Amino acid sequence: MTEDDSTVDLAAVREKYRAERDKRTTGRRYRPARGDLARYAADPHAEPFERAPLTDTVDVAIVGGGIGGLLAGARLRESGAVETIRIFDPAADVGGTWYWNRFPGLRCDVESYIYMPLLEELGTVPTEKYATGAEISAHCQAIAREYDLYRDACLQTTVTGIAWDDSAGCWTIATDRGDRVRARFVCLAIGSLHRPKLPDLPGIDTFRGHSFHTSRWDFAYTGGDSSGGLVGLRGKRVAVIGTGATGVQVIPHLADWAEHLYVFQRTPPRSAPAATAPPTRTGPRAWNPAGSSAGWTTSTC
Ligand SMILES: Cc1cc2nc3c(=O)[nH]c(=O)nc-3n(C[C@H](O)[C@H](O)[C@H](O)COP(=O)(O)OP(=O)(O)OC[C@H]3O[C@@H](n4cnc5c(N)ncnc54)[C@H](O)[C@@H]3O)c2cc1C
Repeated sequence: MTEDDSTVDLAAVREKYRAERDKRTTGRRYRPARGDLARYAADPHAEPFERAPLTDTVDVAIVGGGIGGLLAGARLRESGAVETIRIFDPAADVGGTWYWNRFPGLRCDVESYIYMPLLEELGTVPTEKYATGAEISAHCQAIAREYDLYRDACLQTTVTGIAWDDSAGCWTIATDRGDRVRARFVCLAIGSLHRPKLPDLPGIDTFRGHSFHTSRWDFAYTGGDSSGGLVGLRGKRVAVIGTGATGVQVIPHLADWAEHLYVFQRTPPRSAPAATAPPTRTGPRAWNPAGSSAGWTTSTC
């Protein structure tokens, strides 16, 4: 291909895209992390605990404690229209995606000034252009504290049913802990990317090596933390399946520590250096005056 468009073989390019699309959309693809594979969805970050089932009434029930649920809760608090807000989530803390994902190298891949919500409200500026997962997770927790969303939260609790009770004029929310909570309003903020997607590969349920999904990183096995230091992989042969945004972030850390790293790539992505840097008054671009004056988040977006 040259700069002259007339020399581009469009038919060949279209065929290439069609072939790559077909790899993603045809045949066996994913298996849910249930049954024999349920361990891939288990929470490696939480200690089990018991509590008695709840049967009380709240003004608003929010299903999901990720950024969506937190924003809904924060704005409801600001409105002053409701008193009791209850977030339900199977995670042991708020953050959703940023609770579940802690893999080494995790960062947001849009500018943190745009991505992270309620920065001005909390009086904070992200420390880097592409904030780490740990920083975003801590910010989510700060939102929950600032807006008093922990007070009535039910964490490590999955909503299993929501039914409208016509005579009482409210919803009844059922959970896997036997709760029967009533609420006048229900807000669904369950996201979609918190679920581990498993490739439907022959042998995935009988593989005898150690394996886990990046959204449930097993630091007890690898050692280290979300900034790296995977000392447990010394001398090990490691394979990573996938080179999407997660693969691109995690692979350099695996390569640092494993004795041998195999990378399996189906569809090559485009990636570029992140060029992350602490924000300054003017920021990396003239239009990005992070933290410089009241209203900076609005003008940045
Ligand atoms: C690794 C990774 C990196 C990402 N990076 C970016 C990025 O840089 N920029 C960007 O724009 N987006 C990014 N995303 C997308 C990210 O998911 C969204 O930006 C955002 O965090 C989604 O928030 P959410 O609240 O809608 O959903 P989630 O974060 O998915 O939260 C939903 C919550 O609902 C809970 N839930 C689900 N079912 C139930 C139930 N039955 N009962 C109770 N709770 C339930 C889940 O446990 C989860 O905690 C990324 C996603 C991943 C996985």
